[in-house]
Amino acid sequence: MRKSEKEYDVLIVGSGASGGMAAYILTQKGAKCLLLDAGPHVDFNRQRTLKPVYELPYRGFGKPGKLPHVYQATEFNANQWVDFDQVPYTFSTKIPYSWARIRMIGGKVNFWGRMSYRLSDYEFKAKDHDGYGDNWPISYAELAPYYDRVEPILRVSGRKEGLPQLPDGVFVEDASPDGAVIDRLNKTGKPRGMVVTKIRRALGDGQFASSVNLLLPAAQATGNLTIVPNAVVRNVTLDKQTGKANGVSFLDRQSGRELHAKAKVVVLGASALESTRILLNSGIANSSGVLGHYWHDQFYIPGGVIGVIPEARNGKAPRGLIGSSGVIVRFRNLKTREKNFLRGYACDVNPGQSPDAKYFPTWGAELEAQVSSHRGAGIGTTIMGETLARYEHHVKLDPKVADAWGIPVLNFNIRYTDNEYNMAKDAVDTVSELFTDSGFEVLHRNPIMNNPGRSMHELGTCRMGDNPKTSVLNKWNQSHDIKNLFVIDGSCFVTGGAQNPTLTIMALAMRASEYLAEQIRKGEL
Ligand SMILES: Cc1cc2nc3c(=O)[nH]c(=O)nc-3n(C[C@H](O)[C@H](O)[C@H](O)COP(=O)(O)OP(=O)(O)OC[C@H]3O[C@@H](n4cnc5c(N)ncnc54)[C@H](O)[C@@H]3O)c2cc1C
Repeated sequence: MRKSEKEYDVLIVGSGASGGMAAYILTQKGAKCLLLDAGPHVDFNRQRTLKPVYELPYRGFGKPGKLPHVYQATEFNANQWVDFDQVPYTFSTKIPYSWARIRMIGGKVNFWGRMSYRLSDYEFKAKDHDGYGDNWPISYAELAPYYDRVEPILRVSGRKEGLPQLPDGVFVEDASPDGAVIDRLNKTGKPRGMVVTKIRRALGDGQFASSVNLLLPAAQATGNLTIVPNAVVRNVTLDKQTGKANGVSFLDRQSGRELHAKAKVVVLGASALESTRILLNSGIANSSGVLGHYWHDQFYIPGGVIGVIPEARNGKAPRGLIGSSGVIVRFRNLKTREKNFLRGYACDVNPGQSPDAKYFPTWGAELEAQVSSHRGAGIGTTIMGETLARYEHHVKLDPKVADAWGIPVLNFNIRYTDNEYNMAKDAVDTVSELFTDSGFEVLHRNPIMNNPGRSMHELGTCRMGDNPKTSVLNKWNQSHDIKNLFVIDGSCFVTGGAQNPTLTIMALAMRASEYLAEQIRKGEL
């Protein structure tokens, strides 16, 4: 192993939402940072050439089996995902885990949908509310000032509603009127506690809201950031005398050469499950025994309910009826208690869709007529529900399987349980009822959730908490065991709610990085 000479103040692993935020804050605080990422720099102008379908070897359907568990992978975007053969994983359940990974500078936020919602104390203090699981060691009030600063960086658009379960943010105000479909859903829903608000979304710069354009340029401008692409980190290394982290071992992606980088502080932001994998491969930071445990995400049911707007059939939608999508905000288990599930769900609503031919139980000329008459008259939905963070839902190292660089891979022990199944059923029933009572028809209902992982919102497995016996990190994302080791991605979550997590990941990464910089200044690390 070759040892590099230079010792950096902080070594950051990962350049996505979390690692990018750490680089942004720490370099501006004067820390000399080394950022390692397993992927290359990507030139989108050069590498995103659109090809006609007939030029693709599999005519757009992709090579069967190439990315077997990634729903989002197609022949058009196959190269953006981590190749399953190169970095495999295994699972001990009948249903495979769907793990979508992206290795390149910018990580997954080069492609994210940019939906940006705050968590509330219904998540941070969930145990106080319903007695299940654990509270976070922080409250909403402690994270709110950081949300206030991350939203303007991302330029999150939204409409203020004053809802305790979905706190308002510092928005680029979305003052566009709702279409009549959303108005009708709101009118029927509000007496039932169901509010349909505007989708909250990062506008970024020209609808691109990545660390590549919003965070890393400012970090580089300080002169304090060194980025090393194609550096596949295997493990964190420790100083034998002090027991503190002193750097990481990594492999050059192309040559396979093994290298070491030195730093006074190590920050992991390699995405929830990859950071946990690095720690498991390091054999450290696990005196609690909970590293790898309490995985959770949001379950997704795209097309859980497909509605039809009767007066929009045959292209006859009156002006103002269609247009504007919305999200039904969580309304379950706030002031009342459901009998057969805890927590709640949200549901995206998109009027003006053309229902797929598969929803019409007919064929031939009749099918053609149905598809044609429903063009633009459908209402699409995506149901997004909280999954409970359970100890038994975990990842561990698979001793028999290694990736292309010889690094042991993860084995998944994750499944959905009754709470999620019951919640999914309630969501489909309740949204169907809302549609019917608002004067729409229900063409299709499907309570079957996508496989775990499908939302690409993997969370937990390195959770924070006040008690070192039941958590890996303290409330500053700092390892209880090794004080100069921080983990700043979604692995630190205790509960995730039904909200997309990236805004919260970035607010936490900002908060942890400022704390870290202050600790360095005080000489505490
Ligand atoms: C298509 C898509 C749509 C999404 N839509 C939304 C949305 O609308 N709203 C939302 O909130 N979230 C969304 N997400 C999820 C969001 O992208 C993630 O929550 C976010 O990117 C997590 O940030 P991160 O820094 O933890 O990880 P990432 O952004 O994945 O970055 C991790 C980085 O670490 C690097 N890395 C991994 N392993 C190693 C290693 N061993 N050594 C060195 N480097 C390593 C990777 O190359 C990568 O660059 C979406 C994701 C995808 C893919």
